[in-house]
Amino acid sequence: MRAAVYHGPRDVRVETRPRPRAGPDQLLVEVSVAAICGTDASEYVDGPHLIPAGGDPIVLGHEFTGRVVEVGAAVAGFARGDRVVSGAGVWRGECDSVVHARPAGRRRPRRDADGPWSEQPAAAP
Ligand SMILES: [Zn+2]
Repeated sequence: MRAAVYHGPRDVRVETRPRPRAGPDQLLVEVSVAAICGTDASEYVDGPHLIPAGGDPIVLGHEFTGRVVEVGAAVAGFARGDRVVSGAGVWRGECDSVVHARPAGRRRPRRDADGPWSEQPAAAP
């Protein structure tokens, strides 16, 4: 599948990547629309900010709509064909290494998982 991959500031490349599989706690989504927001733009212009520095190249994006094409074994409440919209975040759950607390008690995702600027991202519901 084709994906827009972030390699660093002002370096996003359209590459061919293997189609991911939904992990046990993930959905695989066929993207219908993926947005570019200010977070993505700032990562492109002078990042990395939320993307961990020095990590592997990552597929950008975190705001999207699509249709479920695969449901992880531990996921309840979703089925193939369901239409979904992201919660403006794509990350790997509650691990302290990828989430840090915000003053109001809200949690802020870091970007260490591939986003939806690809044809079929796998993401936590
Ligand atoms: Zn955003």
